[in-house]
Amino acid sequence: MTDGRDRCPYCGGTGLTEATLAARGTVVSSTVVRVAPPGVEVPYTVAYADFEPGARLFARVRGDAPIGAAVRLAAAPEPEYYTFELEGQG
Ligand SMILES: [Zn+2]
Repeated sequence: MTDGRDRCPYCGGTGLTEATLAARGTVVSSTVVRVAPPGVEVPYTVAYADFEPGARLFARVRGDAPIGAAVRLAAAPEPEYYTFELEGQG
């Protein structure tokens, strides 16, 4: 799967390769969002999680997201978004 990017968003480098990520990642940081633009329901949790072989992804989390928790990437109700689901939960 690709989003069509042909260069690194940080340094502009073009030596990108596709990689298959592990199904399970580990939460490295999370916070609860309590203020959002009109129309966005709060509170909700967002987190960064690390996936082998070396990607850090950002997404909303269904439920609580303690640091070190195992999560899976899942399709979200809204199109074009993903969420993290805690491993072993629905
Ligand atoms: Zn780069």
